[in-house]
Amino acid sequence: METGQQDVLTLLERLQQVADEIDRLTARRKEAEEARARAEEDLRETQQNLDAYRERAHALDIERRKRELAIKDGKERIQRIKSRMGDVKTSREYQAVLAEMSSAKQTVAQEEQALERDVEELEAVRVDMERVQTRVRDLEGALAEAEQRLKSVMEETEQAMAGHRAEEQRILGDLPQDVVDRYRLIRSRRGGLAVVEARDEACTACYMRIPPQMYIEIIRRTRVLQCPNCHRILVPPREPPQGE
Ligand SMILES: [Zn+2]
Repeated sequence: METGQQDVLTLLERLQQVADEIDRLTARRKEAEEARARAEEDLRETQQNLDAYRERAHALDIERRKRELAIKDGKERIQRIKSRMGDVKTSREYQAVLAEMSSAKQTVAQEEQALERDVEELEAVRVDMERVQTRVRDLEGALAEAEQRLKSVMEETEQAMAGHRAEEQRILGDLPQDVVDRYRLIRSRRGGLAVVEARDEACTACYMRIPPQMYIEIIRRTRVLQCPNCHRILVPPREPPQGE
């Protein structure tokens, strides 16, 4: 059965509407997918931050224990030096012991200062860690929400999408192959918009004026005509222009 020109234009018009719906649903899905991907990325980054804080806290903790041991050793050394004081016989020996004592005390003092700094930093790191931990929990919640939203968008759009795709296939099957090829080429080159209304002797996509004779042919639906400027397929206005 041959498809008349009138039918071809009607089918093309409907095809564009269906394609618009598919594009709209696809954009909605893409948006939800991108939101989920962003939420995942945010969480991943913050998790990495938290890991870095944990590593720093762990390193500081090890350092702290080492310093505590060093202080304990240093204090024991001071005790040993003190206990040897009584055995000192000569002034030279005494000077040597004093020097040893001074060195031991200096070591202990340095370690104590360093320990204080480590403990302060460890406390600061733990405060930051707590803050980042809270952020991680928030972002985990946000990701779960984004996943849920994506799931519902996919579910909500599934039926409509399947319906539109089936209709699109049906129309493409009903149209002559050369018209389908033209439609596909224009759609791919013109941002998805291949079929547009001609209104008031102008293309409604690019606003180029259409020659009067061509406009009459479009209104009469005599054949598939394309805009001389943007090459989109032109269909008559949906509502007749005023005065007709
Ligand atoms: Zn145009």
